[in-house]
Amino acid sequence: MEKIHDGPMIAAADDWRARDLAVLWHPCTQMREHPHALPLFPVARGDGAWLVGHDGSQVLDAVSSWWVNLHGHAEPRIAAAIARQAQTLEQVILAGCSHPPAVELAEALLARAPREAARAPLAKVFYADNGSSGVEVALKMAYHWFHNRGIKGRCKFVALTGSYHGETLGALAVGDLPLYRKVYGPLLTEALFAPSPDAFGAGDEAGAIACAERAADALAALLDAHAGEVCALILEPLLQCAGGMRMHHPRYLQRARALCDAHGVFLIADEIAVGFGRSGTLFACEQAGIQPDLLCLSKGLTGGFLPLCAVLATQAIYDGFLDDSRERAFLHSHSYSGNPLACAAALASLAIFDEDDVLVRNRITAAKLATLAAPFAQHPAVAEVRQLGMVVAIELHPEAGIQDDGHAVEIAGRRGLRMYRAALETGVLLRPLGDVLYWMPPYCIDDDQLTLLARATAAALNEAFQCA
Ligand SMILES: *Cc1c(COP(=O)(O)O)cnc(C)c1O
Repeated sequence: MEKIHDGPMIAAADDWRARDLAVLWHPCTQMREHPHALPLFPVARGDGAWLVGHDGSQVLDAVSSWWVNLHGHAEPRIAAAIARQAQTLEQVILAGCSHPPAVELAEALLARAPREAARAPLAKVFYADNGSSGVEVALKMAYHWFHNRGIKGRCKFVALTGSYHGETLGALAVGDLPLYRKVYGPLLTEALFAPSPDAFGAGDEAGAIACAERAADALAALLDAHAGEVCALILEPLLQCAGGMRMHHPRYLQRARALCDAHGVFLIADEIAVGFGRSGTLFACEQAGIQPDLLCLSKGLTGGFLPLCAVLATQAIYDGFLDDSRERAFLHSHSYSGNPLACAAALASLAIFDEDDVLVRNRITAAKLATLAAPFAQHPAVAEVRQLGMVVAIELHPEAGIQDDGHAVEIAGRRGLRMYRAALETGVLLRPLGDVLYWMPPYCIDDDQLTLLARATAAALNEAFQCA
């Protein structure tokens, strides 16, 4: 961290730390680790890819604040759009009422959604207010659709091993990360898990295709064994993020799409983390040329400014709820469904994609990320370096003596914590997921910041190697 040694400013940062720990219970945190093992970073403001502390220190936000930020912090065009909207209409009930941002955003999302020529397009947008809620919406819609048709047996979901879909009980039930799930096991509905097409260690494209084919064969067998019982398959296309930034070949998505069709099962694509350019294309499904029946979007949807989720559905799913009976309607709601401020932020973010030619610029940045990451593959602590668009994952050899439950643990063990601190001392916020150090920077990251990112990563890896 580049510290400006100013007594009062350092005191201000310490004061915020103390006040915070007196009243806050932080997410995804063993609070015992604060304040000593895990330094709390009190952020005064954001500026592009920088987070600025009360002590004047600047830290590069290399995780885009939990994968939500796209165009940088405090992006003026998004901030202005929210301010304008706040002075016009801040919130209104979306049952029975309508407002321009909700309509315009739905139009814009449907126009950009993944599209297969031979399939009816995604046609309707249902708003929720965070990713987990959006996953609940998609799961409930899939089940309820069959129920409305008088088909009672299709009440199972298929999910992939290593998957993550959020923290609410329904979303946890289709997730496979023991760290988040295990303790709540008795509360969760039972899901069927098909093996992940994860290509870790596969080497080249042929190896990744072989992983995809093997996993698709297993999915076929699972769907055969449970014919007539499954209403939907839910997956994270191309990249299982929380599961350790594990990547797979688009071939799997093509086969999964065909298998869902053959078994009359809905395909739910959870692009909450990979949507909006993260994967290199606007949506990851595009790289496989497939279109899901339900598409969940959140995180980057608003450019990282406000919580919002959009679930895109086909006309056929929507039509399955049209009836004289209220019970056959989708009575799900959230108080802030389609919040005008969040929709205005999302529209401003989409406009930036066009104005700044973001996807084209990202291709240049992604090439620079590849060049910077490549040397780390030679590091003795590193097992694999992989990349998908604007995401780079540097996977370390498992740490000796740490029990491996096969899945990632955020800020796990001493090594993760030491890497986190080493990076932070170099001026970069990196949060290792278990054995995986990853880069998911805001798209506006510049060349100097990229250099800093590589330097902090080297520092973190050296730290990891020392304690290996
Ligand atoms: C973050 C995430 C979610 C949950 O979103 P929240 O807004 O944190 O509830 C769901 N699915 C995936 C793939 C995610 O990365």
